[in-house]
Amino acid sequence: MEEPPTHRTLRANAREALRARTLPIRRADRMWGGRGDGAECSLCHAPVKPDELEFELEYILADGLAKHHVHVHCFTAWERERDNVLAQDGLHQSA
Ligand SMILES: [Zn+2]
Repeated sequence: MEEPPTHRTLRANAREALRARTLPIRRADRMWGGRGDGAECSLCHAPVKPDELEFELEYILADGLAKHHVHVHCFTAWERERDNVLAQDGLHQSA
C-alpha cells in the first residue's frame, strides 16, 4: 500500500514543479475537472486513478497546445505555491 501524500509532500512536489517550470506559471487557458483515467499527474508523477479526481489543464503556447493531467490535491498545492512565488518575486500574472 502506498502512503497517502502528506501536505508536506504535496507542497514539495509543487515547489519542484514550479522550479522546473513543469507547468506554465499562470492559469490554464482551458481546464476541466473529472475522474482520472490513469494518466500520469504532471506534479507528483503518480497515475490519476479512476477513483480520484483530476484537473485536465490545457495551455495555448507559441508552439502548440500543452496538456497536463493533475490530481486536484496536487493542483491546489501548486496554485498555493505559485501564489507564494509570485508574491515573493513581485511578478504579476498576465490576465
Ligand atoms: Zn498528483
